[in-house]
Amino acid sequence: MKSIKEIYKIGYGPSSSHSMAPRKAAEIFLEKNPNAELYKAYLYGSLAATGKGHQTDEAIQKVYKDKNIEIVWEPETFLPLHPNGLKFEAYLNKELIDTYTTYSIGGGDISETAEFIGENLYEIQSMDELLEFCKKEGKSIWEHVEDVEGKEIWTYLREVWTVMQEAIKRGLENERVLPGSLKVPRKAASYYAKSQNTVGSQKNLGMIFAYALAVSEENAAGGRIVTAPTCGSLGVLPAILYFLKIHDKISDKKIVKALATAGMIGNFVKTNASISGAEAGCQAEIGTACAMAAGATTQIKGGSITQIEYAAEMGFEHNLGLTCDPLEGYVQIPCIERNAFAAVKAWECAVYALFSDGNHKVSFDQVVETMMQTGKDLQSDYKETSLGGLARICRPKIERNN
Ligand code: SF4
Repeated sequence: MKSIKEIYKIGYGPSSSHSMAPRKAAEIFLEKNPNAELYKAYLYGSLAATGKGHQTDEAIQKVYKDKNIEIVWEPETFLPLHPNGLKFEAYLNKELIDTYTTYSIGGGDISETAEFIGENLYEIQSMDELLEFCKKEGKSIWEHVEDVEGKEIWTYLREVWTVMQEAIKRGLENERVLPGSLKVPRKAASYYAKSQNTVGSQKNLGMIFAYALAVSEENAAGGRIVTAPTCGSLGVLPAILYFLKIHDKISDKKIVKALATAGMIGNFVKTNASISGAEAGCQAEIGTACAMAAGATTQIKGGSITQIEYAAEMGFEHNLGLTCDPLEGYVQIPCIERNAFAAVKAWECAVYALFSDGNHKVSFDQVVETMMQTGKDLQSDYKETSLGGLARICRPKIERNN
C-alpha cells in the first residue's frame, strides 16, 4: 500500500480525476515535447462526457498556454483499462512525432497501466490486518502511520490541515454565483450566518453544513484545496474536523493524528477497490470520504480502534449504491450538498459507534469489497458520464427555469 500522502493531494479544483490528473498528464507530455507545432489531447469515455463541466479542457489549456493545442472529445470511446482515458499527440512539420496514452484513475493519479504507481510502503493491506496488528502491538492507527512513513508525515499532514482550513475560511467569506451554466449560488456564508442565530443541535448542524459547503464551493470555483480522497468529496472530512476544532476546542495536534487514521481508511479503499466516481459511482467518493471522517471523529472522541473501524464501516456501508450523476458535468449538483450531508452522517456514525462496545457483524473490508462489486454492476450512465440519474432527469427542468 502506498503513502497516505496519495490520499491527500494539494492542488486546485474542481475535480481530481477530471482536472488535476489531466493537468499532470499534460505537463508530462509537454515537458517531453516542448517544441512541437501542434498538440492534440483526446479525452475518452467519462473524461469526455463530463469534461466540460469538470473543466478538463481548461486544465489542459492552462498548461499549454500559448501553444497550439486541440482538444478532441470522444465520449463514446472507452479505452480498455479505465473509463477515464486520455491520449496526447505532438506534431512537427505535420508529422506525428510522439504519443502518450494514460488513464486518470482517481484521486488525481495518472497511470499508463491503470494501476497506482509509487512505492509500496505498507505491508498491511486491509483493515482486518491493521486491527490485528494494532491490537497485538498495543498501537493506535496513527502510530502505525508514523512507524511506516516516518515523523516527516506530520509536516505533510500539518500542511494538509492548513490548506483545508484556508479553504473553509475562504469559502465562508466568498459569496457570488459559482462558475458554469447551472448558475448555482454559493450558500456557505449564509448558512454560517444563520447557524450563529440558533442554538443546540440545530446550530451544530448548521455549522457542519456551512463548513462542508465552504470547502466544496471553493473546489467548484477552482480554488486551492486538498483531495480527501477526491475533489468531489473533499468537503466531508475538513468540515467535521473544523467543527471539532471550533466547537470542541480540539487541538491541531489531535486533528493531524486523526488525518493520519482517516488517510489509512481511504488508502484501503483506494488499494482494494476504487475511489473513482467514473469507475464505481459516488459511493466510491462520498462513501470513502464519509468513512474517513467517521473514523477520524471516533478517534478524536476517544474511541477504541474497534469503534473507529465500526464508524468507518457504517460511514461506507450507508453510502453503498450511491450513483455519480453530476448535472451538466459540474462538480456542483448533487456534489456540494452531498458533502454536507455526508459530513453529518459521519458525525452520526461516530456517535453510534461510540455508544456501542465496538462489536458488529459486517467488517469494513467486506463493505469495501461490496462497494467495488456494486460499482462494477452499475451501468456506466451512473458513473460520471452525466447521462443518468439526476443529470438526466433534472436537466430539462433547469433549462426551463432559466
Ligand atoms: S456525484 Fe459524487 S462522484 Fe460524482 S462528481 Fe459529484 S461528488 Fe464526485
